Amino acid sequence: MDIHEYQAKELLARHGVHVPRGGLAYSPEQATYRAREIGGAKWVLKAQVHSGARGKAGGIKLCSNDEEISNAAEAMLGRKLVTQQTGPRGKLISRLYLEEAVDIAQELYLGFVLDRKEERVMIVASAAGGMEIEDISEKQPDSIIRATVDPGVGMQGFQAREIAFGLGLESSLIGKATETILGCYQVFRDYDASMLEINPLVVTRDGSLVALDAKMSFDENALFRRPEISELRDKSQEDPRETFASDRGLSYVGLDGNIGCIINGAGLAMATMDMIKIAGGEPANFLDIGGGASPERVAKSFRAVLGDKQVETILVNIFAGINRCDWVAEGVIKAIREVGVDVPLVVRLSGTKVEEGRKILADSGESVIVADTLAEAAEKAVAAWREATKNKKAA
Ligand code: GDP
Ligand code: MN
Repeated sequence: MDIHEYQAKELLARHGVHVPRGGLAYSPEQATYRAREIGGAKWVLKAQVHSGARGKAGGIKLCSNDEEISNAAEAMLGRKLVTQQTGPRGKLISRLYLEEAVDIAQELYLGFVLDRKEERVMIVASAAGGMEIEDISEKQPDSIIRATVDPGVGMQGFQAREIAFGLGLESSLIGKATETILGCYQVFRDYDASMLEINPLVVTRDGSLVALDAKMSFDENALFRRPEISELRDKSQEDPRETFASDRGLSYVGLDGNIGCIINGAGLAMATMDMIKIAGGEPANFLDIGGGASPERVAKSFRAVLGDKQVETILVNIFAGINRCDWVAEGVIKAIREVGVDVPLVVRLSGTKVEEGRKILADSGESVIVADTLAEAAEKAVAAWREATKNKKAA
């Protein structure tokens, strides 16, 4: 789960990380009011969306009077910001953050991630901040400093100092940098974060160290024990299709094609998506109904998939081990009768109780296209989709 920049900064500030003074605004009037509260003569208006690279996309604006703030706020609010990271659908701007502008002398990069291979928290830092870490590693790979933390003892002061010296900071800033790095680590650990990125961490002209940006993601499996983090969730930043599904305990990933997929098991889902592509189609989603799916759960999955108006055909592909084909078949019929499926439907069942499952489909009298193998199912789905779109265009 991602959170907003202003939320991450609040967490960091509580742990001794220096951030610019700022305030949240939901309207142009509020934004100018914030400028009065903050004081000073220059401000930065920042679109709060769950994405980086906002600057290049018009989501960061330096302002020096009320009119500029108000105009920038007007232009941003209610719009969708499309950045290099959001995908073509973009993210809705409904909150703005106004901050005192900072005079930048140097931009640094500071990131914390989980290194799965090492099974440790890894710190990545670079004196070449301001650009994306991917670009840093391409253009200035030698500037990157890495360190891992032994989970038995946690991050040590000497490690943070080593990073601070590695960044080439002046001696007067080493103490503050050490405190910043340790503070970040503490936030990362204490709240079960999976990623924390400060880009840029800046040295100001008056010689202080400030986190000018902050991005954080959290491990969703740990949210149950982090209510203060769960509360920071902003559903308006999520793919509505994914929110609908996750609220119902389904694991769903939205994609850009037209063939909706209902599958059990992530491996089978990946294989099915590959087969759809090989057959010349594009999957609209990845939905894993998991093991032991009841007819109700199957019907819910149909609701989630049909909620995407781009879906023009549905492919159900079940290899039942823990699951039961008869339950899935019941779920399919339940969905047709209760949810209403107005697109072609291809079903491939295999495994436990497959004969019973097929019989339920055949006896139902509903129009279901049945397939025996994965390849056949994908081909039939793509053929049915082509047919349906042809008819739609003709109509
Ligand atoms: P991002 O584009 O989503 O990563 O948003 P950032 O918060 O990192 O802002 C993008 C860029 O805007 C930064 O790298 C800075 O160069 C610039 N910027 C942001 N805040 C300030 C500020 O207070 N003063 C100045 N001079 N530049 C700023
Ligand atoms: Mn940034």
